[in-house]
Amino acid sequence: MTIPQIISSGSEKKFSLEVLPPLKGNGAGRLFERLDRLVDFGPSYINITTHRSELVYKSTSDGLYQRVSQRVRPGTVALAAAIQQRYRLPAVPHIICSGYSRLETEYALIDLSFLGITNLLVLRGDKAKHENRFTPVDGGHSHACQLQNQISDFNRGMFIDGTHMDIVADTPFDYGVAGYPEKHEESPNAEMDMMYLRQKIDAGASYIVTQMFFDNARYFDFVSRCRNAGINVPIIPGIKPIVSRSQLTVLPKVFHVDLPTPLASALMNAADDDRAKAIGIEWCAMQMRELYSSGVKSIHIYSHNASASVESILKQVL
Ligand code: FAD
Repeated sequence: MTIPQIISSGSEKKFSLEVLPPLKGNGAGRLFERLDRLVDFGPSYINITTHRSELVYKSTSDGLYQRVSQRVRPGTVALAAAIQQRYRLPAVPHIICSGYSRLETEYALIDLSFLGITNLLVLRGDKAKHENRFTPVDGGHSHACQLQNQISDFNRGMFIDGTHMDIVADTPFDYGVAGYPEKHEESPNAEMDMMYLRQKIDAGASYIVTQMFFDNARYFDFVSRCRNAGINVPIIPGIKPIVSRSQLTVLPKVFHVDLPTPLASALMNAADDDRAKAIGIEWCAMQMRELYSSGVKSIHIYSHNASASVESILKQVL
């Protein structure tokens, strides 16, 4: 089933989770321990992020430093397969342009189709930490829509060199794309951001997952602007429980989102991170209740590093 089919079936309140692959060198045991508890609440599917390579400095035996390219969180495809097998739930790996050539993407698509993983989230990906602006690798894509075209060609049985598959997969890839209620940071204005989002839907995306937001009014306004722009696919709201006082400044800086004044003031006055976590739980539960009661069928929870909070939120809201 595709994600739009999953979220439109049944009448219960639905939600999805998003996890990060463990840091290189760590096993997946702790991630599974956390997921084991959360799957009891019945997520509809689980997203797995993808992280580009970063340049890091490594000390060498002669006391010098060497600059090497390293993938700090590898393993998205394998983790997606492990999650799908362990929980019998659809896994949705993120496929990104950033740091990947078209050929590497093609190999990943081949692996995914062998593994029976056909739901994807297609993104450009973040720029490298040392870059001022996003730069594709040699033979890579600059924007999500180009990656979408590669996937559409693959679905039609065409490889990037123009050759054809002997047998085209029975189940083509279905995918969503990202949308930004508070505008993507690089976009000159909200209208142009919307124009490119419309382009991504026209290129074949079957749903949108939003960047996190802390004010539901931003989501409702975004949905209405999307509908006015002729975008009619499901728009799944993405929300994140705040778990520490430092997120008061980190989240706006990293994700270019606003925190409403009542939330920001409460966090500023929080005595410690335990109090901040409690505020985050209360706020996120309030957001979820309002979203469900306004007719939203499924909510995407950025659950990484927040599984205990997500557990208490789901206990309250479902
Ligand atoms: P694009 O759609 O390519 O848009 C990027 C910018 O370019 C926007 O300003 C847009 O308006 C503009 N634009 C779009 N198309 C064109 C065009 N054809 N010509 C000119 N301008 C254009 N990052 C990761 O690295 N890994 C992840 O796993 C990951 N998961 C995410 C999950 C979700 C739900 C969200 C919301 C974001 C995620 N990100 C992830 C972050 C995302 O990759 C970044 O926000 C990235 O900067 C933009 O990705 P995009 O797919 O929206 O890019």
